[in-house]
Amino acid sequence: MINPEFYFEMNDKANKLRHEWFIDENVPIDIFSIVKNKIDNLTVVFMDMGEEISGASSSFDEQNIIFINSLQSYGRQRFNLAHEVYHLKYDEKFITCLKGSNIDIERKADEFASCLLLPHNALKYYEELNDIKEKKDWTIEKIIDAEQYFQISHHAILWRLRNLEILTYEQYQKFKKHPSEKARKMGYNTKLYEPYTDENTTDGNYINLLNKLYDKKIISIEEKNEYLLDAFCE
Ligand SMILES: [Zn+2]
Repeated sequence: MINPEFYFEMNDKANKLRHEWFIDENVPIDIFSIVKNKIDNLTVVFMDMGEEISGASSSFDEQNIIFINSLQSYGRQRFNLAHEVYHLKYDEKFITCLKGSNIDIERKADEFASCLLLPHNALKYYEELNDIKEKKDWTIEKIIDAEQYFQISHHAILWRLRNLEILTYEQYQKFKKHPSEKARKMGYNTKLYEPYTDENTTDGNYINLLNKLYDKKIISIEEKNEYLLDAFCE
């Protein structure tokens, strides 16, 4: 099931980036604050992008812009932000990312995002520290503890454990239900599972960026108006 080529290749890439950013391989990261700090001229825009799109990004004139779908859970947004970082750092053009896309570039960006938030060695080290010795020790409670610790979405950690053949297909199906409820019962807050918007990120720079995207014919006038409308309708 796992694609070892992409997984370990992307894990290496993600670790190199952590290294470049002076971030230890084993620690959880606040990806939103890190990217704003480490990527120059970055604007992150939260907007309702409907059900099909997870995010989008573009680089031009030394400006970087990432769109995050505000309908998705905070955990998923963290994952999507890491996914868009991959496009910004290693791809060139404007890209819109569809949910569940199976093309290589999207799968690579997904593996990269998963490994940036939770490097392979960090997972192994976490197992060691938390007395997870065998596959069966990965109970739903242990999974929720780990996703809370690394602030990675429930879907992303399940997918990871499934790809590493730690979880069976049946476990995967069973564990994916109602993570928010389970986390709450375990005493965690449920921010990870709920939609999130950072109100401070849609600033004046956004209008300039949209104008530039339009001037360069990267987006149409309809798209530009739609983005403006969505961002400022409040
Ligand atoms: Zn993508």
